[in-house]
Amino acid sequence: IRVLIIDGQNNHGWAGTTKAMKATLAATGRFTVTVSTSPGKKGTKEAWAAWRPTFKDHQVVVGNYNGQPWPEPVNKAYLAFIEGGGGAVNVHAANNSFAGWKEWNRLIALGWRGPKFGDRVTVNDKTGAQLRTAKGKGPGAGHGRQHSFLVTVRAKAHPIMKGLPTWWKHAKDELYHGQRGPGENMQILSSAWSDPKSGGTGEHEPITWVVPHGKGNVVTTVLGHHWGGQKDFEALHCVGFQTVLARACEWAGTGTVTIPVPKGFPTDKATSI
Ligand code: ZN
Repeated sequence: IRVLIIDGQNNHGWAGTTKAMKATLAATGRFTVTVSTSPGKKGTKEAWAAWRPTFKDHQVVVGNYNGQPWPEPVNKAYLAFIEGGGGAVNVHAANNSFAGWKEWNRLIALGWRGPKFGDRVTVNDKTGAQLRTAKGKGPGAGHGRQHSFLVTVRAKAHPIMKGLPTWWKHAKDELYHGQRGPGENMQILSSAWSDPKSGGTGEHEPITWVVPHGKGNVVTTVLGHHWGGQKDFEALHCVGFQTVLARACEWAGTGTVTIPVPKGFPTDKATSI
């Protein structure tokens, strides 16, 4: 399965994140991974004009980019790629980007935005139903202190989630809350209770979700924090994160999942790194 990782700008350690994700995908034996690195913040006009990621030569595009808007031809090619059946998997701060790109906001459903940007979507822990908080009400995007937290699988029959324990303990990471956007057509695959004790909201916040677009699909996961210079890779090396990343790429790229739940997958009591 041909994967293209897009990086080059991010307030996070994008080089280390790409390296870790590339290694995870390669280790499954299912993927060939190419990386397309955009010009940096000081990139010249010429450098941007020369940067044209070849989305259509791949089956999945992994988003590890949080920075200035892409050139219009790149946006167009990205949308056409997904409309034509390509898959996209956006990781952690990838959903912070492109607040002004309307189609992008539809593709990610929820992004790192202020409360006035759009609705918030949380999950009713008992019924699994989506709960909407109207634009302007409640918290906007944020996260409490980094900590290890339980992820609750919501869509047990979805190929990405099939066979995963209902509750698994994710390694130390940021638990995003108050994500905002159109929040339409999203299937929430997993959520996590955001503990007020660690600065959270007391609600079940969406963790990984899927939005169909044309013949393709977009998976967004807010897991996977890694700063530049951060010594540990706990969030990215969590076996739970790795499994979801690999399966999301396989599913978005092919429509099916063959990658098994590995031995040593986290349990509801123990993380696994
Ligand atoms: Zn982060």
